[in-house]
This record gives sequence, structure tokens and C-alpha cells, in this order.
Amino acid sequence: MDLCALTISEIHSGLGRKQFSAEELARAHFERIEREDSAVRAYLSLSPERALAQAKKVDAAIARGEPLAPLAGVPIAVKDVLLTRGLPTTCASKMLAHFIAPYDATAVERVEAAGALVLGKTNCDEFAMGSSTENSAFAPTRNPSDLTRVPGGSSGGSAAAVAARLAPIALGSDTGGSIRQPAALCGVVGMMGTYGRVSRYGLVAFASSLDHVGPFGRSVGDVARLLGVIAGRDPKDSTSAGVPVPDYPAAMEADVRGLKIGVPKEYFNGLSAAIGDNIERGIDRFRKLGCAVKPISLPHTDFAIACYYIICTAEASSNLARYDGVRFGYRAPGFSGLREMYQKTRDGGFGPEVKRRIMLGTYVLSSGYYDAYYLKAQRVRTLIARDFLEAFDDVDVILTPTSPIPAFKLGERMDDPLQMYLADIYTVTASLAGIPGISIPCGSTRDNPPLPVGMQLLARHFDEARLLQAARAFERAGGFEAA
Ligand code: GLN
Repeated sequence: MDLCALTISEIHSGLGRKQFSAEELARAHFERIEREDSAVRAYLSLSPERALAQAKKVDAAIARGEPLAPLAGVPIAVKDVLLTRGLPTTCASKMLAHFIAPYDATAVERVEAAGALVLGKTNCDEFAMGSSTENSAFAPTRNPSDLTRVPGGSSGGSAAAVAARLAPIALGSDTGGSIRQPAALCGVVGMMGTYGRVSRYGLVAFASSLDHVGPFGRSVGDVARLLGVIAGRDPKDSTSAGVPVPDYPAAMEADVRGLKIGVPKEYFNGLSAAIGDNIERGIDRFRKLGCAVKPISLPHTDFAIACYYIICTAEASSNLARYDGVRFGYRAPGFSGLREMYQKTRDGGFGPEVKRRIMLGTYVLSSGYYDAYYLKAQRVRTLIARDFLEAFDDVDVILTPTSPIPAFKLGERMDDPLQMYLADIYTVTASLAGIPGISIPCGSTRDNPPLPVGMQLLARHFDEARLLQAARAFERAGGFEAA
């Protein structure tokens, strides 16, 4: 049996029948990482001591005949923007290259309390700013489907780890698409819950009004299980919501007949033909499942990229002010005076994309420009959210491509930030509106080797169960390959 190819329920049935132990599962994953990850580079650091100690606890509980916790014995990869006590938490930045987190993020604490084995921390774009994982200060991650291509980003390491079977599930963060887009480009399932659904406590802040923590998996069921563990109110995050968490694995099995699916026309301009064809076939599959598919319009879509890149940079410029060389992280050597210490630290500690965002964000917040840019963008954000609310008067789920293009070649978009930003065109809208979204595999291109295509499903606030239900029906109706 390949211990690295199992779903959570397969892991649990194997553990229950004593076919393997949690320790064997952890070791099998570390061996595979050892063999494969020098090519993929999904991980920035590994935590074998922590994973094996937890595995032994799980095995002891099984030996005592205790029931299995929801993630008992399940290995997990954690994006390196989530704090993990006693382990490096670098945000793929030189600024935090030697930073050891003093406490655990709530999502990490919850997955471990549910029995998961934290294998290590995954690579990403620096401070989660990017769409290709090439902005990592350490090394780019490669797409397991084609090692000459990017895995998407910013949670590219988590997506690649799951796709390459270097972990069955992973945690990522999504501010404007950073879970959904790499999930699409790597051919796995990735989900962003409603804003407030999952606690952000211990997630290093990029743009606080847009940041989310969320799950990756190779099946809808695994994503449903992981979301169920991390979702719910957390007193340590005042923006986390007290809305009850449904039993997602049970809810996702509901029939989709009669489900109303809206397809927004604005999401089909300028997308690559290979993506369009697969999405059309995906839409057909939903029709065959008895869903009512209807065209809809989200008229403010065109403004989303500009709006997102004003709001996220404004928030980033404020959040990243804390990296001053005094409180934590990198401090540049050889300065005279406080001002020069700040300058040299921030100049040497941040990479080019982070600096670009801080400058843009500072500019749009500065007096004289605030009204023209930041305030205007906030108003446009409201219009974009209203588009969705109105659309959801008529439909239950909105279906779009996740990304306009499949995985691109490493280096291809690095010289042109605008081209890179346009990769987020279909994902930033849901982030701005605060609604939940999932990306599921939906066929592949005719490239050699073929590249995965992702389909995005969006729903009303706190209607994650509906997304999982639609995604699960799609998966059940033929697997992800044959869309
Ligand atoms: N690619 C988008 C950006 O660069 C989204 C990043 C994210 O979701 N963290 O901002």
C-alpha cells in the first residue's frame, strides 16, 4: 500500500484495522519528501520530531482503544505564514529567516488537537504576495505536473506538497486567491471559507480585511474534514464569526438536483481556450446532474483587480510597518542612528515585490491621494460585494474558471508585475466580497505534459456546505480527470 496516496478516511480505516501506524505514516511521508522534494521544493523546513511525537501519542490512543479524533494520524503541511511554536516561521522572507514563532496559530493548534501530524512548513511568495511562489526569498517551488512551470501562489508550496503526495492535506492562506489559484494550477482542491469562518490568529498579517486561512486536499471530502476542524469562533480573533459550523462531510453528500448555478459572462473574456473548453465540459456535467445553469452578470468585475491592489497594498503597508529591525526578525548590520537602521533593515530584509506593495500602499493612503484611491477603492469594493448579493437572489452557486491561464513557465511573468496581477482576475472578487470559494480540478490542457485546469465555485456568506456539496457531486460524477 502506498501510504502517501491515502485520503483521511482511508488513513482512518487503515489505522483502525492496524494495517499501519501513525508513526509509519509520518515516516513514509518524510521518506518521500527526502526523495522527491529536492525537485519540487514544496517545503522550507521539516518538523520530524514534532510529527513523530504526535504520531506516537495517536498510536498510544489507538492502542488504548480510544475513538479516532477527526484528523488522528493525518500528516499535514503548513504554509510558512502560520505561526508554529518553536519552529521557524519565515513567510519566505529574509526578514524572518531566523524567526522562531513563540506560539501556535489557532488553525495549527486545532489541527494538532484533532490529531494531525505537522510535517513541516511550506514555501510561498514572500509574505504571501504573489501568484507563482517565485517571490520566495529562498527558492521557487515547482509545479509537480511539469517542473519547468510554477505551482501558482502564493500558497504554492502547500498546493505542490499535496499534489506531489508529500502530504495528504495542507493549510494555506488566501487573500486574493492564494489557495484557490495554486490549487487550480496543481490539480488539487483548495478552499477559502467566508471571511471570519476560520480564525486568523497566528496568521502573519498581509491585508487583514482580506486574509483567510484555509484547507488543501486531493479530494473534496478531505477539504471538508479539514475545514470542519479549523472553522469556528475563536476568542483570540475578534473578526472570527460565531456562526455554527455544520458537519461538512455529512452535508457535502446531499443531492444537487435542482441546484441553481450561475455562470457570470464577465469571467469568460480573455481566457485561454484550453481552460474555456474544460470549464464548458464541467458546466455540462452539472447540467447532467440535474442542476439549473443560467447566465448571470457581475457588472463591476472589471474594476476588481485595481480595487484589490489598492486595498491590499494599503493594508500591507500598514501591517508590514512592524518589521523595523527592533522588535523581531532581521536587523541590518552597520548603521549609524535609528533612521539608518530602519532604512537598511527594510531595504535588506524585504524583496522587490514586498517593497513595491509597501510603496504603492503608502502612496494610496497618503494625504491628497487617499480620497482618490483608497476611499474610491473601498466604495468599489462595496459595489463588487453588492453584485454578488444580487446574483445570489437568483442562484445558489456561481461557477467560474479559477485562473484565466494554466501553470506558466518559471520566470515568464516575473518582469511584468501587471501580468502577474492579472492571474488573480477571477479570484480577487470573492475575496473583496468576503464570500466563500472553492477550486476543484476540472480536466487538463493538451500540453505535454498536460496541465491541470481548475473550476471555481462561489456561494453566499457562510454557505460553505453548499460549495462542498456541489464540488462533491462533481467529483462523484466522474472523478476530477474526465471533466
Ligand atoms: N496573488 C495575489 C496577490 O499577490 C493574492 C495573494 C494572496 O492571496 N495571498 O496579492
